[in-house]
Amino acid sequence: MKTAEIKRRYLAHFEANGHAVVPSAPLPAIDDPNLLFVNAGMVQFVPYFLGQRQQPWPRAVSVQKCIRTPDIDEVGKTSRHGTFFQMNGNFSFGDYFKAGAIPLAWDLITKSVADGGFGLDADRIWATVYLDDDEAIEIWKQTGMPAERIVRRGKKDNYWSMGIPGPAGPCSELYYDRGPAYGPDGGPEVDEDRYLEFWNLVFMQYEITNVRSKEEFDIVGELPAKNIDTGMGLERMASILQGVDNMYEIDEIRPVLDKAAALTGKTYGANSGHAASESHPDDVRLRVIADHVRTSLMLIGDGVTPSNEGRGYVLRRIMRRAIRSIRLLGWQDKALPELLPVARDCMSPSYPELAEEFDRISTYAYAEEDAFLATLRSGTTILDTAIAETKSAGGAKLSGDKAFQLHDTYGFPIDLTLEIAAEQGLAVDDEGFRRLMTEQRTRAKEDARARKTGHTDVSAYRGVLEDGGAVEFTGYAETSRESR
Ligand code: ATP
Ligand code: MG
Ligand code: MG
Ligand code: MG
Repeated sequence: MKTAEIKRRYLAHFEANGHAVVPSAPLPAIDDPNLLFVNAGMVQFVPYFLGQRQQPWPRAVSVQKCIRTPDIDEVGKTSRHGTFFQMNGNFSFGDYFKAGAIPLAWDLITKSVADGGFGLDADRIWATVYLDDDEAIEIWKQTGMPAERIVRRGKKDNYWSMGIPGPAGPCSELYYDRGPAYGPDGGPEVDEDRYLEFWNLVFMQYEITNVRSKEEFDIVGELPAKNIDTGMGLERMASILQGVDNMYEIDEIRPVLDKAAALTGKTYGANSGHAASESHPDDVRLRVIADHVRTSLMLIGDGVTPSNEGRGYVLRRIMRRAIRSIRLLGWQDKALPELLPVARDCMSPSYPELAEEFDRISTYAYAEEDAFLATLRSGTTILDTAIAETKSAGGAKLSGDKAFQLHDTYGFPIDLTLEIAAEQGLAVDDEGFRRLMTEQRTRAKEDARARKTGHTDVSAYRGVLEDGGAVEFTGYAETSRESR
């Protein structure tokens, strides 16, 4: 079943059950100062859950575009984490609660394909509930789930929040057993690659604050009503229904991966097993490229442009990671003009604006790649020499001075310095680097003050970039401009 069809069926099922169909919010989370990007379907509904605004409908359904940058290191290495993904979700604002949400979910996933459902084999489905949630266990049993496939889990997995202050609550999740080719028996507690989490039903009933981690936060009190917020990963459901090993192989992503493989002359999958843990590093890189190119397309599509701070910096990092990954596979030329149109063709059936606005999107994307390739050319030579010198002197750490110089003078990103050094078996003197960054910031502030009193100094531009991107430099204007 195509991803677009899964989306259509999800919306249709909940619309038939009295839910208003609500469009996705744009990716930038403009209403919440604590959040750069929308990371779940419920984000646009937060004011309704908190009782700050009256909801226009008691029930809603949406397919929300999401970005989760904290998952970036998992991309390609697990079967299920994208930096961009789509979350199908149904919501009840003080209307139905657990006894409504659980049967609605069960019905959709187990109903036959001929009847408009997803036709999952009920024997392969597991449910988890929050530790003391006997009520949810009872309801699952009534729908037909055997007790031995209902598992209690703690806060880390079964208590959901956005990761910032706001609505939260215990949750119940659905997992699909992909079979012994993917890992050992025993349920989601044993192996989260074999047992694939695909749907989270959140029983949204508290407001939390002081969020220190997934398990540490303070409960402010109960929300004005008991709500339902669910999230089903569209790509994860597609990977199940399309019978592929991971989300990067579904119809909306695989063509980008194949294009990257063709460019680099790699045969994807030739040296990997089915389980994510049995993946060849080249295959992991191809997945990273496919994921990141798609994410870049979606972000620029929603108005984000590469820059040195905030959302633009996240985009820049993702684009640079894609470009570097394909270079590591042997493709030295420009990659985005080859890959971005493929991603557009995968995504534009669901998001026609991507095709309509492709001139604007590709102009930003290609300019960013050109700038980065220029930065790489100058920075890599310097870094390689520094690494060789460090090694021949018997050192295990690249100096903080060198890392800072690369960052400050050449606009060579610190994360790249760390990555390349690590590939060569070297650490980087992080402390030294950070000390120099702090000094630079202090200087920048003093300079700014001096400037106000008439002592003009261009270095006032320094320090704009505290998180590791390019900083304007006074001596190598060409290089640093190119790196932007
Ligand atoms: P995981 O434990 O696999 O990281 P999660 O528990 O963090 O997932 P939730 O916050 O419960 O995920 O989000 C709801 C649903 O969204 C998940 O059940 C999954 O189907 C989907 N999802 C979450 N993160 C991603 C991601 N990075 N890429 C693709 N789908 C995702
Ligand atoms: Mg997660
Ligand atoms: Mg989880
Ligand atoms: Mg979850």
